Amino acid sequence: MLERIRIVLTGTSHPGNIGGTARAMKNMGLGDLILVAPRGEARSAEAISRASGADDLLARAPVVDTLEDAVGDCSLVVGASARSRNLPWPMISPRELGARLPGELASGDSRVALVFGREDTGLTNAELQRCHAHVHIPSNPDFSSLNLVTAVQVLAYECRLAWLGENTPAATTGAPKHDETQPFTIDEGDRDPLASHADLERLFEHMEEVLIAIDFHDPDTPRQLMARLRRLFLRARPDQMEVNILRGMLTAMEKRAKASAG
Ligand code: SAH
Repeated sequence: MLERIRIVLTGTSHPGNIGGTARAMKNMGLGDLILVAPRGEARSAEAISRASGADDLLARAPVVDTLEDAVGDCSLVVGASARSRNLPWPMISPRELGARLPGELASGDSRVALVFGREDTGLTNAELQRCHAHVHIPSNPDFSSLNLVTAVQVLAYECRLAWLGENTPAATTGAPKHDETQPFTIDEGDRDPLASHADLERLFEHMEEVLIAIDFHDPDTPRQLMARLRRLFLRARPDQMEVNILRGMLTAMEKRAKASAG
């Protein structure tokens, strides 16, 4: 389970924090680190020194240009955020995140990404709106922002506790897991695999094009329409078949719109 949890650092400016993250991850048994457009030299001497022995993890961490490149293959993307934003998004606590992981990672090839922001400005709204949910470490509201490595450590620890819970002899057996953040659940055995982040991004792009073509959406006065639709569909956790149906609907709408225009 732990090997399929990915830590994504976006736009990190201090290489020391990248090294510190590698160490925090390795301490908790995590190994999948991806760096999105780091602002300093990701594998500098300072980074290696702060990794204190976790430099193997640092050495193999891919450096990519966009968040898409880092999380495209993940079925759950959770953004770590120190503060709430203008459009409220599904929020989970670190403990809830841990509780969800065994279920999320039950199928052998599923991956979960935890996305962390810049030291100075955090994650952008666009980045946060690409996440299924946001996780907030319940810190002092008057002083809520943790150091990046500390935030990674807290969430990595919750991942480890969840994993230990599943892997100790006393771990619960038999009782089905109840997922409190999803009011209605479907027996996962009856479902198609969940859509990947990349599938969902293609859906949102297609949806925006069609909504503009049929004059429903005016990109000059967006009124957070796409953000709200993202929130709706991300909350629903659509599977691959459901995304195919939606894509098919959009294609049919496009055809009709073209026919009536021509
Ligand atoms: N000043 C920035 C915070 C940067 S801290 C801001 O206002 O957004 C760097 C990163 O650490 C954040 O982007 C977030 O991913 C993580 N982080 C810091 N404090 C956190 C908290 N209380 N809960 C969840 N993530 C946190």
